[in-house]
Amino acid sequence: MILRNLVLWLGLSMRLTCRPVRWRKLSWLLLFFMHPSMAADHWFERYKASATPAELYQFLYAMPKGGDLHLHLSGSVLSRWYYELALAQSDNGYVYYAKQHINNCAGAAEEARPVPYLLLQHTVDHLTYAQLSDCEKTEYVDLATLSEAQTARWLSSIVLDKAHEGRDEFFENHWNRLGDLLRNPYLMAEVLVANMRAFGDEGLIYIEPQVPIFGFVTASGEALSLDRVLEIYTDRLAQADAKATGVEVRMQVSLLRFLPDAEETLKVLYAFASKHSVIVAVNMVGREDNDKGYPLRFLSTLRMLRQTQGGVRLSIHAGEVDEPNHHIRDTLLLGAERIGHGFNLITDPDTLRLMRYGPYLIEISLISNLLLEYVDDFSRHPFPEYLRLGVPIALATDDRGMWDSTMTDEFFVAVTEFSLSWDEIVTLSRNALEYSFLDETTKTKLLARFDRRIEKFVRQVQTRDGFVWTKPPAPKLGLICRTYNLCPVMQNEMEN
Ligand SMILES: [Zn+2]
Repeated sequence: MILRNLVLWLGLSMRLTCRPVRWRKLSWLLLFFMHPSMAADHWFERYKASATPAELYQFLYAMPKGGDLHLHLSGSVLSRWYYELALAQSDNGYVYYAKQHINNCAGAAEEARPVPYLLLQHTVDHLTYAQLSDCEKTEYVDLATLSEAQTARWLSSIVLDKAHEGRDEFFENHWNRLGDLLRNPYLMAEVLVANMRAFGDEGLIYIEPQVPIFGFVTASGEALSLDRVLEIYTDRLAQADAKATGVEVRMQVSLLRFLPDAEETLKVLYAFASKHSVIVAVNMVGREDNDKGYPLRFLSTLRMLRQTQGGVRLSIHAGEVDEPNHHIRDTLLLGAERIGHGFNLITDPDTLRLMRYGPYLIEISLISNLLLEYVDDFSRHPFPEYLRLGVPIALATDDRGMWDSTMTDEFFVAVTEFSLSWDEIVTLSRNALEYSFLDETTKTKLLARFDRRIEKFVRQVQTRDGFVWTKPPAPKLGLICRTYNLCPVMQNEMEN
């Protein structure tokens, strides 16, 4: 202890006094390695040094976590869940068909359609199916009667699981393929609970999903009001199995920022959020390389809304783009308290300095940024720079259904690629609660619950000879199996 304090003092003194750059660099190293949670004799550093990747993964799965502040409900659905829950929707009168063939139906390829005619695995419900021409009906197969090979192709078609698939596949094809699945509110309510269950198993206690609320219809085709859609969500959340997950839920609503009528949608969502306490924020989504959705487009609308209404909080995607720009600075000017992705903050030094030590948080999704090609490999991600400059950040899963990944995967990537200390891991989880849009009473309660759980976990880890897990083996999905070779061959084959 005396030695460590001496070295810490030496490191700090060198930082403050040394002129030559090489000595100042050495002082950083001394501070880094001798910080209590970084020191080689810290239990977590010893554990990291001795654990196999599979053991570290199990550790991170079992570890209590805070929350997920950035997930799109309809993109957070594992493809297997979509398949099974879509079939179960026959109980509510919905039947689904997936496009398996192109029969060159006369004129179809030339028509201007929201979904291109040539898109295989496009999924429609019985309402759309009934309106297809006889020729086009022959192209679709009832989801319940797909062959094994067709099912495998359908499942794969909404996951970025091939080397050539990236940003365009995700933005232009995945969402289109989901088609009418996205207009069934009962299905969306079920996937919400499926997520609560899975995140609860991973040790999360809070999620703040961006839930879709527009365009829903009953099985007979009747349009549903926004209030009715929200009621379907909240009714489902009130059921015993949802409560038993132990995961607290608040919701965000979002608008597609580059659409011509986005300002009008913003007004609707702002009023909707101010009316319902379970809706804690409005978000803006949509690819930022479409410059029709630039942040300052919404400044006058938000200023007008704030003249008569308060209390609506904003978490907005910004900086999820390759080019340097001032989208994050401009988004803070809109009134955002949290930034989704914030990937290009690194290119805006003034805003980067502004964001050190709060009060704004960046929601980071390492896997999303890799698969959507904002980085070629994790070593190029600004995550460690933000983290170690004191910019508040939390890990998030974004559209994990389409990555085929989990929150444990985000932590595994962060720990293995950036050698996180124990303090840094705990900070990431606490940030996901502290910067949530929960009311203060619930936030305090959840923070206390997290602190109790993580202390208990550390006690267990430190007092047991080796790690005896009460949890079952961590489920490992496609992304982590493919990227880190963590899965036995059998499991890989079963999941592919
Ligand atoms: Zn997102």
